[in-house]
Amino acid sequence: MRTEKCDVAIVGGGSAAFEAAVSARQNGAEKVVMLEKAPEEEFGGNARYSHTGFRFVYSGPDDIRDIVPNWDPEEFARFHIPAYTEEIFKGDLNRVTQGRIDSDLADFMVSQSNSAVRWMYESGIEFEPEKRREVDGKFYFEPGIIVHTVGGGLGQLLRWREIALQLDVDLRYRSRVTKFVGDFRGIDGVCVATDDDDYELNAGAVIVCAGGFQANAEMRARYLGANADLMKVRGSKHNTGEILRALLDLGVKPAGHWQGAHATPIDAHAPDGGTPLRQDGHSNTCNRYDYTQGITVNNLAERFYDEGENNHSYTYAKTGRAVLAQPGGLAHQIYDKKGIELFRLGAEYTDVYEEADTIAELAAKISIEPVALEATIAEFNAAVQTDIPFNPGILDGRATKDLVLPKSNWANPIDEPPFRAYTVTGGVTFSFGGVRINTSCEVLDITEQPIPGLYASGDIVGLFFHNYPSCTGQTRNAVFSREAGKNAAQLANQ
Ligand SMILES: Cc1cc2nc3c(=O)[nH]c(=O)nc-3n(C[C@H](O)[C@H](O)[C@H](O)COP(=O)(O)OP(=O)(O)OC[C@H]3O[C@@H](n4cnc5c(N)ncnc54)[C@H](O)[C@@H]3O)c2cc1C
Repeated sequence: MRTEKCDVAIVGGGSAAFEAAVSARQNGAEKVVMLEKAPEEEFGGNARYSHTGFRFVYSGPDDIRDIVPNWDPEEFARFHIPAYTEEIFKGDLNRVTQGRIDSDLADFMVSQSNSAVRWMYESGIEFEPEKRREVDGKFYFEPGIIVHTVGGGLGQLLRWREIALQLDVDLRYRSRVTKFVGDFRGIDGVCVATDDDDYELNAGAVIVCAGGFQANAEMRARYLGANADLMKVRGSKHNTGEILRALLDLGVKPAGHWQGAHATPIDAHAPDGGTPLRQDGHSNTCNRYDYTQGITVNNLAERFYDEGENNHSYTYAKTGRAVLAQPGGLAHQIYDKKGIELFRLGAEYTDVYEEADTIAELAAKISIEPVALEATIAEFNAAVQTDIPFNPGILDGRATKDLVLPKSNWANPIDEPPFRAYTVTGGVTFSFGGVRINTSCEVLDITEQPIPGLYASGDIVGLFFHNYPSCTGQTRNAVFSREAGKNAAQLANQ
């Protein structure tokens, strides 16, 4: 087998990989090679199918203004941007992961989140304001998520690619990493398979950014449990987990929730793999995340989760699993006119829905027993505490009363036609089980010792449990990849 040499080899071609490659070059690694399994027309991993919102710590509007300096000043003045502090971000991570997130990694990610986003901006990535809801002339965002990248995830990837190529990063498509050179005592490179040959790429350091295993039905069935092999994949079909397996075989320490995954309610008609983005890059056309402004029922017309437990950004990543657990793996989000008018700006859905002037007609259109849906909605409407003021911009505490399954915020009677139903299923975004790293982004072996020469960032890092606060993946990538690139460059130059 022929051999080649480089300073830093990066396994993968998604956002974590680009960030690691750029950071390695900025920190003095001469020859950086990125190995992307996908063909050029499908490069970029999951971010290609996402609008890539970022959750990070900020002190208020001025902090945000720095990274969207050209946004219309009049509109910006109407943005409601209270501080999102380290304490709040850390609290969100702890709450949704039920206290299971590694606290050193969480502290590191939170404390570096603002500077990592600024690093992206300074490196040439542009941002713009995130989806928002207008209430009385003010615009309200989900806490912690004020911006996404211009052109969505694809825009971000195209810009990273430009920046990486300007820095002479050697980006190779259709280059599948099959093995590691070395063992748990040290990694010296990787073996690469292309369409027509195999070669060994020796490297001073290797950074693995090969994503999760969510696009591998066999691994989903094995780790995620019943019916997980039926999940529709929202992102890249190339995240098939073979690098994760190779790392486990090498003796790395597993981390994160191996039976857990980020799974969300998506259009039941969505394709399996690569759900499309809206043309402006603002949102994925298959996302169905405004369920906070209506109710969701299964095929038996039963509600099955608290749609108003919290802002959607704290509940959506666990809601896909709840939908998949319903008969047929389907559910229906039901709104009336008031609910439809409260969809967030930038989150407008495609026209894949049913609409009717009565609940009975709507039920018939989505093949639910009309009497059952009428009964569920009548019971829900009667339980709404209309004496509590309704405010969709905040957690308003406008809950139902005496329902076995409450709706804890934004409860509004569903009584104004037209009535609308969006049929949803559960889509998998990324798996939570991965490898253990330390805050230098070194991969640890089973005895918790760093494996010399091996770093990791992105979805392949095991970090989350149970649930996930939205838009943390991109921030995690920026924080860990910047660090991994820096440390890998330093090691390669020793
Ligand atoms: C629809 C959707 C919407 C999302 N929205 C957001 C959001 O708004 N904000 C947010 O923070 N996160 C979001 N996410 C999650 C976020 O996109 C991911 O967490 C992030 O992109 C993961 O980055 P990564 O580089 O680690 O992995 P990926 O982007 O999955 O990249 C992995 C790469 O590794 C390559 N690869 C795999 N195996 C090999 C191999 N053997 N050899 C070589 N290459 C290999 C793949 O081809 C791929 O390029 C979203 C995801 C999806 C799917």
